[in-house]
Amino acid sequence: MNEQPRTVRMHPRDNVAVVLNDGGLPAGTALPGGPVLREKVPQAHKVALSDLAPDDEVLRYGVVIGRAARAIPAGSWVHERLLKMPDARPLEGLPIANAVPPLMPPLEGYTFEGYRNADGSVGTRNLLAITTTVQCVAGVLDVALARIRRELLPKYPHVDGVVGLEHGYGCGVAIDAPDAHIPIRTLRHISLNPNFGGEVMVLSLGCEKLQPERLLPPGSIPIGGEGSGHVRLQDEQHVGFASMVDAVLATAERHLARLDRRRRETVPASELVVGVQCGGSDALSGITANPAVGACTDLLVRAGATVMFSEVTEVRDAIDQLTARAATPAIAQQMIDQMAWYDAYLARGGSDRSANTTPGNKAGGLSNIVEKAMGSIVKSGSAPIAGVLGPGEKATTRGLLYAATPASDFICGTLQLAAGMNVHVFTTGRGTPYGLEACPVVKVATRTDLARRWHDLMDLNAGRIADGEASIDEMGMELFRLLLDTASGRRTWAEHHGLANGLVLFNPAPVT
Ligand code: CA
Repeated sequence: MNEQPRTVRMHPRDNVAVVLNDGGLPAGTALPGGPVLREKVPQAHKVALSDLAPDDEVLRYGVVIGRAARAIPAGSWVHERLLKMPDARPLEGLPIANAVPPLMPPLEGYTFEGYRNADGSVGTRNLLAITTTVQCVAGVLDVALARIRRELLPKYPHVDGVVGLEHGYGCGVAIDAPDAHIPIRTLRHISLNPNFGGEVMVLSLGCEKLQPERLLPPGSIPIGGEGSGHVRLQDEQHVGFASMVDAVLATAERHLARLDRRRRETVPASELVVGVQCGGSDALSGITANPAVGACTDLLVRAGATVMFSEVTEVRDAIDQLTARAATPAIAQQMIDQMAWYDAYLARGGSDRSANTTPGNKAGGLSNIVEKAMGSIVKSGSAPIAGVLGPGEKATTRGLLYAATPASDFICGTLQLAAGMNVHVFTTGRGTPYGLEACPVVKVATRTDLARRWHDLMDLNAGRIADGEASIDEMGMELFRLLLDTASGRRTWAEHHGLANGLVLFNPAPVT
């Protein structure tokens, strides 16, 4: 091996370091100022810097990520089987808004080219969305969407595309159960996402539980009748399948004609509503890509934008850091309430936060959820937490928000769309081709090896931080500029290839 061994220690208290070299480091490698490796340690995995006795604390990010399951001599590979996971921090007695970071200086002069909407929001894409009330209509909608793309979109070149808001909800569900408001408000708010220009169009069946009047706010669309934004398949006027599809096309064309008249205009960076999340994480996620996202989050907040971080089970173990950072005691309490609700939700299912980590996370060097969480929350940067959103709620304030969502990539993305997200940042170390139809997704690789192999899927390579070629702050600024370009219309790799995952609603309520 002709490469120098490179490791990173996140905090001076840490007694493990993470190997950065592509391909890992072989047994016998002498770490600069550290032990000699007793065995091969793969990239992104941990090495013990000192001898650990059974039950000794293992520290990373200055936080106890576990206790040694047996004696671990210095220079050993510290993998998940050698770590006993600590219990979750109780939600009582947390520090409350006692370490609120000082406000950072404003960042002025940054703009993007966006679509201004009547409600004051700004879109980064000009899309027609067709909202559905129930899964029953999805087949008809799919046929109609194919025809809209083929026959209508070429006539309206200023429209970026058409999105079918299809989902598994709407009927066969306990629609009056206490938690049913979550999927319902999620769908409502997605229909009003800034990238859809306020042109709400609805396709319903007729007999379903989720009636359009219940789904959408009063007055947002004229429901029923000729010339409305609503097509109902069971209406008597529809005789045969072709009549249904024709009705969807005729209604869509009226919306497309209006959307086609819109043009981008220069707007301040404060109009960005950015959702950040990670998926397919490895131990470099918390060293390269997520810290770069954190640096970008700080720039966005300084520019007056809205940034949401999410993924409950990946922030649960850092709750004490987050309640301390909350701008007010009320915000800290909202955060605790969201955690308590989610703890109870997981307990009801006979599970807890430790169910989060995947085989790929562990193969990638993340031993447990505590370690994963510490690397995940760095995406939130260092600003005060200015607000908390429950699942499916829409953001109404700017700054750094905690949007409570599951960590599942698709459910998190769906809920961030409902919150009003107009650009999405997604970091990955293992690699996932994730994308959304409703919103551009900028994907950031944690490792150069992934960025090289997935050269036409990853939009930015934060692995350059591990390679010593860029600092975290430089990558943060590069990502910030890339987000502004993307918001102005530059296509992501996922958009280029037409890659998009489906909406996945979070429905904690019973089905019937
Ligand atoms: Ca995720």
